[in-house]
Amino acid sequence: MLEKNLARTKIIATLGPSCGRETRMKEMVRAGVDAFRFNMSHGDEETRRSWVAMAKKVRNSVKRPVSMICDLRGPRIRLGIWDNELVLQKGEEVVLKSGKTMGRDGAIPVDYSAIVKDLRVGHRILLRDGRAELKVLRKAKGRVHCSVVRPTILCSNQGVNLPDSKVSAPALSAKDRKDLRFAVEMGMDWIALSFVRSAADIKTLRKVLKKLGTKIPIIAKIEHPEAVRNLKEILQVSDAVMVARGDLAVEMGHEVVPTIQKNIVRKAIESSTSVIVATQMLESMMDSPQPTRAEVSDVANAVVDGVDAVMLSGETAVGNHSLEACRVMHRIMDRTESELFIDSWRLRPGVNPDCLSGNTIAMATVNAAVYAAHQAGAKMILAYTESGRTAALVASFRTRIPVVSLTSREKTYHRMALLWGVRPGLIPTPRSTRGRNRAAAKMLAKRSYLKSKDLLVALTGSFQVSGSTRTMQLMRLEDLG
Ligand code: PEP
Repeated sequence: MLEKNLARTKIIATLGPSCGRETRMKEMVRAGVDAFRFNMSHGDEETRRSWVAMAKKVRNSVKRPVSMICDLRGPRIRLGIWDNELVLQKGEEVVLKSGKTMGRDGAIPVDYSAIVKDLRVGHRILLRDGRAELKVLRKAKGRVHCSVVRPTILCSNQGVNLPDSKVSAPALSAKDRKDLRFAVEMGMDWIALSFVRSAADIKTLRKVLKKLGTKIPIIAKIEHPEAVRNLKEILQVSDAVMVARGDLAVEMGHEVVPTIQKNIVRKAIESSTSVIVATQMLESMMDSPQPTRAEVSDVANAVVDGVDAVMLSGETAVGNHSLEACRVMHRIMDRTESELFIDSWRLRPGVNPDCLSGNTIAMATVNAAVYAAHQAGAKMILAYTESGRTAALVASFRTRIPVVSLTSREKTYHRMALLWGVRPGLIPTPRSTRGRNRAAAKMLAKRSYLKSKDLLVALTGSFQVSGSTRTMQLMRLEDLG
């Protein structure tokens, strides 16, 4: 079904104990949430199963597409387990080892087998989101001796960042592979991979998905310096990228995040890859019913830059104002889009050669369609899509003209919820092109999007063949069916 009055920028909400209830999830979708993120770094499978069932019920009952994103932990390194808090004093020497638990020698366990191999003398080890810092003094007998540069109190299982080291862990751990089977079984719409370092990591994930018999689109989380360096190649093989500002700031320093974010967003849009900005967008709303001025400005800036989606993390997962955070997010978008809309159509006056590495015929057709729609004053761009790729290509033009993308695949319908400005519609599986056009005309008229004399540009490919978009047609609604 199609809906009016939706923001063009989409909202992702991370599920967690604060909002993992059917009534709350429904309220969140009504408040403007377009996608739920399942963070595989936390929680147990049973809870996640129940959340998937709730998400499916909610999206059926609200009759709107809602994406489910499975966020894999990837090669994220964590501390092992021990009983009491550990107080680390400045200048103190501490010892790290690879392992899951602390032994009698008191060496701090790190749950990563290559920790000793990957670290070199002088490398930094960041703990507790960068609040604590150790420096490697020497390596001996399978242990790493470090001095405490920034003191802290350490607890089990906290995250570890190695900003100076080339982390040799594989892109997917045994846990990720298990989580992937779960994601496929549950019918997740997108897979996000943490700590991507290169295009090869994404290719590995795609191969595993292929073996599992699926082509779920992939979101590469950009949070490691290597990923920033390899951005161009990662954009070419990913369906979307996420500016994961939490770990990005730990790894590279807070002050570089704004410019890296702007650069990633611009390059992603230019290469027709969807882009998400994440982390601490409304962080103060974890405790307060109102955001800070700086947070409002941060969200509005992301909207002005043209991101496909912004993400709420702790705000919805564990915050005290999970629903209000979604409402506030939606209000900021609504206002920013209506008052400060930058028609980035003008920013993109042709096809970027980088996009041509993909489906050049589809891209050329979409390019022509968007130009024609503007020139002829069309009221809508209508894209039929099998996989959602044509819709993503149209979305990358960030045009003011409403984009409606129709599919008869339920998975594609929900996936498209994440794409900038795209209003997905689900139509019955047609038997012919004529049947498809009739179903489209019926839906558009029913939703009163267009009047019969209104002009639209329709994008089509070979009937029911993914990636075959090669026809664009200017027509009036009454010509459709
Ligand atoms: C981040 O680091 O900003 C992020 C989105 O990843 P995660 O929530 O998995 O830490």
